[in-house]
Amino acid sequence: MSQEQSNKPKIADPIKEGLARGWKVFGTELDGAFRAPPAQLDCDVLIVGSGAGAGITAELLTKAGLKIIIVEEGPLRSSSDFRQLEAEAYGQLYQEAGGRKNTEQTMPILQGRCVGGSTTVNWAGAFRTPASTLEVWASKYGLSDMTPAALGPWFEQVERRLNIGEWMGEPNANNDVLRRGALKIGAEPVKMHRNVKGCWNLGSCGLGCPTNAKQSMLVTTIPAALDLGATLLVQTRAQRYELQGDRVAALICQPIHLNGDANGAPLRITAKHFVLAGGAINSPALLMRSGAPDPHKLLGKRTFLHPTLVSSAVMPEAVQGWAGAPMSVFSDHFLHQHPVDGPVGFKLETAPVHPAFAMTNLGGFGAELGPRVKAYPHTHVGIALLRDGFHAESPGGTVSLKSDGSAALAYTLSDYLLEGARRAHLSMAELQFAAGAKTVRPGHEQAADYGSWEAAKAAIARLDYKPFLTVVGSAHVMGGCSLAAEASRGVVQPDGRHWQLKNLSVHDGSLFPTSIGANPQVTVYTLAARLATGLAQSLSGKAVQLA
Ligand SMILES: Cc1cc2nc3c(=O)[nH]c(=O)nc-3n(C[C@H](O)[C@H](O)[C@H](O)COP(=O)(O)OP(=O)(O)OC[C@H]3O[C@@H](n4cnc5c(N)ncnc54)[C@H](O)[C@@H]3O)c2cc1C
Repeated sequence: MSQEQSNKPKIADPIKEGLARGWKVFGTELDGAFRAPPAQLDCDVLIVGSGAGAGITAELLTKAGLKIIIVEEGPLRSSSDFRQLEAEAYGQLYQEAGGRKNTEQTMPILQGRCVGGSTTVNWAGAFRTPASTLEVWASKYGLSDMTPAALGPWFEQVERRLNIGEWMGEPNANNDVLRRGALKIGAEPVKMHRNVKGCWNLGSCGLGCPTNAKQSMLVTTIPAALDLGATLLVQTRAQRYELQGDRVAALICQPIHLNGDANGAPLRITAKHFVLAGGAINSPALLMRSGAPDPHKLLGKRTFLHPTLVSSAVMPEAVQGWAGAPMSVFSDHFLHQHPVDGPVGFKLETAPVHPAFAMTNLGGFGAELGPRVKAYPHTHVGIALLRDGFHAESPGGTVSLKSDGSAALAYTLSDYLLEGARRAHLSMAELQFAAGAKTVRPGHEQAADYGSWEAAKAAIARLDYKPFLTVVGSAHVMGGCSLAAEASRGVVQPDGRHWQLKNLSVHDGSLFPTSIGANPQVTVYTLAARLATGLAQSLSGKAVQLA
């Protein structure tokens, strides 16, 4: 080994260290070996998923001394595997290899599929649930004890556990464009909170953090639960629950290869209680495959996406938007211009500018991409997240099952949402020119590179705002197993238990009755912390706390 190599600082790998300590992990291809899970298992609580809701739940339940099994469809990967390469990350860590779309094919949908779920690949922006959203949940869904004050201590626990705080570094150049432009147009820019500890500012949150700085479930709650004796089955798909009357008797699981093909015989796991945390889209699908009761036809309905618009700008200075914390500045100015149930509001942020992401998600194709590649180091990418689910013309999408039993999501880009898309493009273009952009190109197939705010304004007014022409995507999936105070309005009770199945709880983003108008991870953590604390108390008699 050269002197230079031996001096290289080593990054601890909490997963490899945990496995060496004897964690009970099955179904993994670690070290090239397939460790088949036992054909039958039994536990106190069986958790499906290992993402935001599942991780928090697993830690709290194991703290209460309960015997837990976690079943995760995706692979176990860790910092030693994360090499900041899109080609590896999308295929290994994302649902449908990063290619998930709504059934209309108008929107790519990013979701994680690996240990840690979407938290392993998310961009680390951390927001409490907006008060205006909680007001709607109270008035329309009877969730009157979910006020900002009542949730305050739960937010605080989550923030302590996951090291959430204001981003203390300078914004990277990509976020600084947003900061400067927002200031100039009077759309107050705000520093973001992030869940990171000792961040190296590499910019690869979305590809798996190679330094374990992002406080995802992969490096926090899942290791904590495994240290407390939990069992983790990876590359194991929860296929269906066996129902007996108003109870779940068992879960049938299928070990799978990375590509989703079966890998060995199915297994049956029994438990006293079952927690479903497979994320919005997949959680309702598992209940559908199981024939779960749905007397009010609400299962898989009202699935929200924060439809997200993009606008790219070529700046005079180098931006290198692939480097540095991908999100550290935001503006909620355009979220609050209308009442929450009026014309759709939107939140402004930035996206990391990795090459494949930038070439596929900014609109255009073929020869048009040549100049974009040339301008790549100078490219700023702004995004606008539409707050869907608050207006009658924004009812969200519907989950159904494909012929092979996997999940599909129908989600229509309505005229109501597309009107918001036009306003979002206008605001982002104005902001980008105010920050000094040489050219701006809204994410729209009829758009071109515009050289001035006046030219962009006139052109955006003429664009046809229609599905396929308007570039829209999403990394925020919410709803489908909605919480409500009455069975006729939701799938799940306010304590997280299914209205019809007595020993089944849902603890993930599918619980949201609407989108939230902010990046959702903290809301998932907080709901899961509150619900799992109650569940731990009722199952074990013990009071536990996350942090
Ligand atoms: C690229 C990206 C960037 C994001 N950036 C941010 C951000 O900056 N800030 C923020 O607040 N939010 C962000 N999010 C969203 C946030 O991470 C999610 O809202 C949150 O993780 C959802 O939590 P969840 O528990 O509902 O599901 P997930 O965290 O997605 O976890 C669900 C898990 O269940 C597993 N699963 C599903 N079905 C089955 C099954 N049948 N059997 C076994 N396992 C199953 C999945 O593989 C997955 O691992 C981002 C998401 C993505 C994809």
